Amino acid sequence: MRHFPIFLDLRGRRVVVAGGGDAALAKLRLILKSEAQVTVFATNPAPEIITWDGERKLRLVKRAFAPGDALCASLAYAANEDDAEDTRVAALARADGALVNVVDNLEASAFITPAIVDRDPVTVAIGTEGAAPVLARAIKADIEAALPPTLGLLARIGQGFRKAAEVLPMGRKRRDFWSEYYFNAGPEALATKGKLGVELALADLLIQHIDAAPTQGRVDLVGAGPGDPELLTLKARKLLDKADVVIHDRLVSSEILELIRREARLIDVGKKGFGASAKQEDICALMIEHAASGAHVVRLKSGDPGVYGRLDEEIDALEAAQITYAIVPGITAANAAAAHLGQSLTKRGRNGAVRFLTGHDVKGFAEHDWRNLAKPGEVAAIYMGTKGARFLQGRLLMHGAAPDTPITAVENASRPDARIIGSTLSRLPADLSAAGPDGPVILMLGLLPRAAEAAVPHLNEEFA
Ligand code: SAH
Repeated sequence: MRHFPIFLDLRGRRVVVAGGGDAALAKLRLILKSEAQVTVFATNPAPEIITWDGERKLRLVKRAFAPGDALCASLAYAANEDDAEDTRVAALARADGALVNVVDNLEASAFITPAIVDRDPVTVAIGTEGAAPVLARAIKADIEAALPPTLGLLARIGQGFRKAAEVLPMGRKRRDFWSEYYFNAGPEALATKGKLGVELALADLLIQHIDAAPTQGRVDLVGAGPGDPELLTLKARKLLDKADVVIHDRLVSSEILELIRREARLIDVGKKGFGASAKQEDICALMIEHAASGAHVVRLKSGDPGVYGRLDEEIDALEAAQITYAIVPGITAANAAAAHLGQSLTKRGRNGAVRFLTGHDVKGFAEHDWRNLAKPGEVAAIYMGTKGARFLQGRLLMHGAAPDTPITAVENASRPDARIIGSTLSRLPADLSAAGPDGPVILMLGLLPRAAEAAVPHLNEEFA
């Protein structure tokens, strides 16, 4: 992020604009929404600027920008739509100590102006670092449509009530009150009884919430899917919006963590391969501690919580502590990997069953039903299999698997940096170490990428 978004208090501050044409007008329409003292320097100002000057919305100085014109100004816009003139203005304004924006010149600008959705006091600013104004406009249109025009009024009334609402303890209780106001009680009162009705409704609502029984904590054991935030279930998405505390694994992608409510407390209990990790007992203790104090805890696990997720230990602990919980399934890595390969996990005439295996378990490398896995046409998704690749290879070959049995490794399935590493049983350890993956990898035994499969006719016959 090169441009850091902030909201600048412009009340009583100077903002200067050099230029009087379309570019200056576009910026002025935005700046005049603020409470800044605006001065425009233009030799040939557009009629609107002359009108605004007459209405005292700004001060017009009918000459070109000169040294000292930006003294004490917070912001200066060079909006002459003339490169040489704008460069001159920018240098002068910078020397005066103002932050300078040169219209349509990202490199020469110290700040840029975002697209704005205005529901004052709610303001949404959309920026693309100058990369995609079209995208910014499309997002703005979506947000304009999503935010009712009355939102600003509700927020202003709510603002006057913030002090009173402080009788509710901070955190969940206060949030529940505001959320009920903004999404139910407020809009309803405004529609039926107008502004005064909203104020009365707020007072009633506050009394109701003061009297309400304390909230019960709970834990949702939620699958975050393989990494792509669009592969979250709707249920998971909603829970991330509500949670007070989110306890997550290392493999939960940063894009998904971004979606968590800003006020939620985030606890990373990530475990990496054989490396250091938070102990399972500590994770259980954390969940219980927070839920017992009334928090809504989301225990966020990559993929599906019930696939190599140590779910049962967590459920046992929650039950023993008598904490309410629910399980929200997620898309497991095997699903995402198969989709990358353009393959299904089961296929008529090829494999009527598919197995999920782990490369290692508590005792080290995991033993499996190698004899059956070694048969042609078998399909298995091997989790945590890279470290044990040589062991796996040895066991399968020993039980008669063909050396050219396909194994395709999928790294970072469903993520932007996904990678397919094609291999066979005989080459697996070498291919994996050559590829040197650093993201999570799942090994798909018996599956080739769709295109590669078409190029190997004997495999089709063998599987037929
Ligand atoms: N509960 C998870 C699995 C946790 S075990 C699930 O259902 O997917 C962790 C292992 O899952 C990793 O070592 C890797 O083998 C696999 N894995 C998880 N996310 C993955 C991804 N995006 N791409 C490839 N493999 C992944």
